[in-house]
Amino acid sequence: MKVINDFNFENKKALIRVDFNVPLDENFNVSDATRIEAAKPSIIKVLEDGGSAVLMSHLGRPKGTRNPDLSLKHICEKVSEIIGVTVKFVEDSVGEVAEKAVADLKSGEILLLENLRFYSEETSGDLAFAEQLSKLGDIYINDAFGTAHRAHASTTVVAQFFPENKCFGTLLAKEIESIEKVMQTGEKPVLAILGGAKVSSKITIIENILDKVDHLIVGGGMTYTFVKAQGGKVGDSICEDDKMELALEILKQAKEKGVEVHIPVDVLAADDFSNNANTQVVDVDKIPDGWQGLDAGPKTLEIFKEVILKSKTILWNGPIGVFEMESFAKGTIALGNYIDASTQEGAFSLVGGGDSVAAVKQFGFQDKVSYVSTGGGAMLESLEGKTLPGIAAILA
Ligand code: AMP
Repeated sequence: MKVINDFNFENKKALIRVDFNVPLDENFNVSDATRIEAAKPSIIKVLEDGGSAVLMSHLGRPKGTRNPDLSLKHICEKVSEIIGVTVKFVEDSVGEVAEKAVADLKSGEILLLENLRFYSEETSGDLAFAEQLSKLGDIYINDAFGTAHRAHASTTVVAQFFPENKCFGTLLAKEIESIEKVMQTGEKPVLAILGGAKVSSKITIIENILDKVDHLIVGGGMTYTFVKAQGGKVGDSICEDDKMELALEILKQAKEKGVEVHIPVDVLAADDFSNNANTQVVDVDKIPDGWQGLDAGPKTLEIFKEVILKSKTILWNGPIGVFEMESFAKGTIALGNYIDASTQEGAFSLVGGGDSVAAVKQFGFQDKVSYVSTGGGAMLESLEGKTLPGIAAILA
């Protein structure tokens, strides 16, 4: 696997695919710069070697049109501030003007290209467009994990024009390494915690992960499909009746593979899907009609705590309660605290995929776990066992 440290960028122009798809407020200020911070190490490495950096990214979904609200020029100031170098901007992503701007770039300088998705050729993975992009650098670096699951021109197709001179950036390499730690090389016992709303959206992950883990915690809304399938009463809890057979099949497979599955035994049930609802703790299989389970109960948390504390590798995907409402966030917070404690004892903990990252950030756990993935969809696809096109293109 070729990584950025395998190259010396002295007098070279690095074409770096970054993920600067950051949120902007109503005044076009960057409201969360996490993704820019995440790209910093790769950019700094190129500059410190004595090279220059040509940065390319998408922002939002302009769908092939020049939407000024989604111009990357809005983020230039923020990138300059974070990297500590004034970033130059060019209002095209390819063509003469962009090529001229790159030709004028000196060592130590940074150029940001316009939003790649102003061109429909980006998302269609157009070969000619990718070839035009390839003229803008000597070495191609992919550092955008967030789009590594897309076979777009800048994330995948362009790599073929750099047969020898392509590599993973620092961030992307770290993401790959973290996933490998969980899926292949992690110290045992390996634990996966899968929460979230629905079995149907996690099924491929569960199936793939059963071969990799020793323990599986199933929490959140998925719980009730498993409980009802085993004959329990789940009241008005979220439940996918058409996935009950699948739930039983998963439990059977887990048993055959020697995976211990831990499902909540009690829950905090509410008489309404609302923060102000009346609540009671009930056994997970005896939820009265008119009540729905919205968070894990105290006995459950004790069991989960024990499993988490004895695990050496932990993957956390999905909240175990409706954490957006304060009344039902306690289980997810407790879980974060147990993972924190286990990490302090030397476990490797990876949080990734969709809402778990939001939960982790909301409750301030991002510095307490070993790694928080920067890619929602890309992370989910990795956990499903898929080879991401952006990664495959560098390895090819
Ligand atoms: P996902 O995107 O699949 O990770 O799902 C995350 C969502 O699952 C969050 O918005 C949670 O509010 C929701 N969730 C977690 N537990 C429950 C539950 N018991 N009932 C309904 N929704 C839940």
